[in-house]
Amino acid sequence: MKHAVLSMDVEDWYHLEYFRGKGCDREYSMLDGLDRYLDELSRRGLPSSFFVLGELAQKLKPRLRSLADSGHDVASHGWGHRRPMETSPDDFQQELLRCRAELESILGRPCLGFRAPCFSLDRSRLDRVRRSGFKYDSSRICFSEHPLYGDLDLSGYRQASDGIYHDEDFYEFEVSTQAVGKKQIPVSGGGYLRIFPWALTKALLRRYLAAHSLYVLYLHPFETSERANPVYPQGTPGLTRLRFAAGRAGVREKLNRLIDYLKEQGYEFTTFDRLRTLHMNSQSEQNV
Ligand SMILES: [Zn+2]
Repeated sequence: MKHAVLSMDVEDWYHLEYFRGKGCDREYSMLDGLDRYLDELSRRGLPSSFFVLGELAQKLKPRLRSLADSGHDVASHGWGHRRPMETSPDDFQQELLRCRAELESILGRPCLGFRAPCFSLDRSRLDRVRRSGFKYDSSRICFSEHPLYGDLDLSGYRQASDGIYHDEDFYEFEVSTQAVGKKQIPVSGGGYLRIFPWALTKALLRRYLAAHSLYVLYLHPFETSERANPVYPQGTPGLTRLRFAAGRAGVREKLNRLIDYLKEQGYEFTTFDRLRTLHMNSQSEQNV
């Protein structure tokens, strides 16, 4: 069975690493992108996993409840988008617990998953995620060219399936990349979906899907937002402005093309939590 997991990291534009601490106007929100993304999902009847920042949870309370009630998977993206690897493991764990408590009190159900801001996670912090009671993580991305991404050592984990690793009942889901020459190129969304023309994305995807049974997409609300670009903080370089804004207008159309293409290729859409349960059940059947 081939599976696709669509996911969104629920944060605002000012949480992006290149705007952090730069005096952004936090009154200006682009979280309407969450609703636009949900419009597409509900039109097509598709589930998604959402990694939500703790500091936005109160503001999004009714929407988060309705997400969880509609069968989507609501998980944690940390508290305020501090990169785990720039905080001590103890501080990181405090943030993990704070965010999880907030989400659980709002949703009235366990928060089982985590994705690190900027995929910035190493093994010692992954072990903290697990020890804090989470059941899965999706912070592994094999893209060493990006200076902020962590290099997640999974020694001792078993590969349950393509892109899926586990140690007993704790799972790690890898975010999709495709090898091109000696480099790995993300085919999993974010800036690459916005910036690459669809023909290039599709060509990379064709190669990726021919060899993999799990596909993971990640998006952010600012990418699907219909609002104008924010007033950038003073001194924001031209390249950063371009990186932020490029391709935003076309991302929803690309998302639809991507979903159509995944369907054509026989991928079934699910959430990380459902995938974890599916693998756990198949393991226990094998052990009977
Ligand atoms: Zn993030």
